[in-house]
Amino acid sequence: MKSRRKSSNAPESSPSGPKPGTLYLCATPIGNLQDITLRALSTLRGVAWIAAEDTRRTLKLLNHFEIAAPLISVHEHNEEQRAAELVERLRRGEDGALVSDAGTPLLSDPGFLLVQRAIEEGIPIVPLPGPSALLAALIVSGLPPYPFYFGGFLPRKSAARARLLKGLADLDATLVFYEAPHRLADTLEEACAALGDRRAAVARELTKVHEEVKRGTLSQLAADYRERPPRGECVLVIEGTGDKSGAKQDRPADDEIIAHLEKALASGLTKKEAIAKVASLLGIGRNEVYRKSLELDASRQ
Ligand code: SAM
Repeated sequence: MKSRRKSSNAPESSPSGPKPGTLYLCATPIGNLQDITLRALSTLRGVAWIAAEDTRRTLKLLNHFEIAAPLISVHEHNEEQRAAELVERLRRGEDGALVSDAGTPLLSDPGFLLVQRAIEEGIPIVPLPGPSALLAALIVSGLPPYPFYFGGFLPRKSAARARLLKGLADLDATLVFYEAPHRLADTLEEACAALGDRRAAVARELTKVHEEVKRGTLSQLAADYRERPPRGECVLVIEGTGDKSGAKQDRPADDEIIAHLEKALASGLTKKEAIAKVASLLGIGRNEVYRKSLELDASRQ
């Protein structure tokens, strides 16, 4: 990395113009300041500027670590304009860093546009991995860590939330969402209605004094948080449709098996493929699905 002095005042030149600076995408702690990485500290000390969503919040972090780089605000309302300005500075040879209020930039935080613009201009981009509520919640949830689907924040409107959740009902992947504490009980109830009473976990205030991870079924967690509304920051992790190990699952009804079979056959799968898919989807044996397929055949004759 070029030194801050060099990148802000004396960029290197070449016949085709100054050598561009580097954009560092720098993760910062989600609570516990000791989670900052050594590389993040040395990078933040060396860049010409630090772009941050909430500059006051980032200033506290910088003050704590005695980092003096100037702060530039980038948020959803000015990202378009800021991206152009910052890319221009990078093009002139300045190194800059993008940070979030907490965690990893771009994950439900600004920066995607800046990254796109920087790529278009051939600016080198370097990710500095570190804390993220998403991954911390996923690995502590006790649910299969992959494949997983990250949905960011769910829509605020209840109908849109329910629609989105229903659309994920058949996904064979652990589902991860950021959620505000005052919406958590509603969301858990809606998730239970849309997905069935699956296993889930709520990871709250990770890395902070009141860190808490609650595991249970969606209905148990909904009842819990309805009775004792949570505070702080939360991540909701829900098991995917394919994971039935140890879960509290009702046996699928006969007509549910047949409905899935009809759907799989209508999608163009062979009978053998449809049986395998439904067996895996419902967590039951292929023989059982095969027997239902015979009933289906008989009913069609
Ligand atoms: N980019 C950040 C990251 O990588 O973790 C997330 C930013 S997003 C705007 C903020 C949301 O992340 C919060 O509403 C909450 O859902 C989750 N979150 C952030 N910090 C958290 C923490 N310490 N514990 C649990 N969830 C957290």
